[in-house]
Amino acid sequence: KKNLIIFGTRPEAIKMAPLVKEFNKNNLEFETRICVTAQHREMLDQVLSFFEIKPDYDLDLMKSDQNLYSLTSDIITGLKFVLEDFKPDYVYVHGDTTTTMAASIAAFYSGSKICHVEAGLRTHNKRSPFPEEINRQLTSRMADFHFAPTTASQDNLLVENIKPENIIVTGNTVIDALLESVQKVDHVENEEIKFLKSIVDSSNKVILVTGHRRENHGQGFINICGALKEIAIQHPEVQIIYPVHLNPNVKGPVYGILSNISNIKLIDPLAYPAFVWLMKQSYLIITDSGGVQEEAPSLGKPVLVMRDTTERPEAVEAGTVILVGTDKDKIVLEANKLLMNIEHYQHMSALHNPYGDGKACQRIVEFIRRN
Ligand code: UDP
Repeated sequence: KKNLIIFGTRPEAIKMAPLVKEFNKNNLEFETRICVTAQHREMLDQVLSFFEIKPDYDLDLMKSDQNLYSLTSDIITGLKFVLEDFKPDYVYVHGDTTTTMAASIAAFYSGSKICHVEAGLRTHNKRSPFPEEINRQLTSRMADFHFAPTTASQDNLLVENIKPENIIVTGNTVIDALLESVQKVDHVENEEIKFLKSIVDSSNKVILVTGHRRENHGQGFINICGALKEIAIQHPEVQIIYPVHLNPNVKGPVYGILSNISNIKLIDPLAYPAFVWLMKQSYLIITDSGGVQEEAPSLGKPVLVMRDTTERPEAVEAGTVILVGTDKDKIVLEANKLLMNIEHYQHMSALHNPYGDGKACQRIVEFIRRN
């Protein structure tokens, strides 16, 4: 059977890397090729290098004046050649990016079976200014097989009349990637990890912060920074380490408000191995990232999520994350509870991760083998 795995951004690459590995372990049964659209370039390449993945096809589509119209059409047109060249039986897409949606259209035209990894997440707000929800919904309409990370995502698909036999609950492949990486980073001494070791004071409690979501640009980031400043002032025993996203809408307020506070370190975004190392060292994580809130519970790290709504309600229900929005007082209050109430901290960090056990890719490969 011929597999084509397509992805374009950093989180997709992290979450597809273990699937590439699992198919390659079974290379007598499956011929597997990788195609990257490179919707992100640099951040994607760092992940490829860490997981030692060499794409067979690279559409190299990132442009400085990127927009959704040209990106969508470039992906579909670029994939025509790849699909005609390789003629895959199965095409694998991940999640909710423009790459996911456009690659599904191209795969549909080519007649390949479409396999959607991380299927069934929903906000039900397709008119939000961002395309992720409509990308997910359109991909679900086109996909033949739906690899849902949790039973909640399975339920979302059942409500949309997708046949139960085509939905497989696998866990999230991000846990497969994380568990492999946690082992690996103990043996990696790269420049970034050396740098982190030189700035992290292990006698302090480290709070790791990340944030990039467009919905938080503007007043949201101003409030977030206000909260971080207050936490740093109230708790000299805490060290806040914040790899700041390169988007000027994030960098502007963050460096404006948080520079020159002795226990806040603003650093550049980290490649995945260094980021995993830092997650392991941290006491608490404050983030608006989807992937980070899925990963952190497997490392026993409580997470405050700076969003008002989430397409990942499982973690809120399981209690491994707390939604704090961008309300300054709420962020400070919940951080204070976790810093000062040790029982609350221990309870939260011991909770079971609802996103899986690290065997998602084995379940995907097993399902494809049987079909
Ligand atoms: N990540 C990373 N370096 C960073 C911040 C995050 O490698 O400086 C990783 C993180 O471990 C997770 C993924 O990137 O696996 C999440 O990506 P991001 O937050 O950009 O996107 P989202 O998950 O919100 O779609």
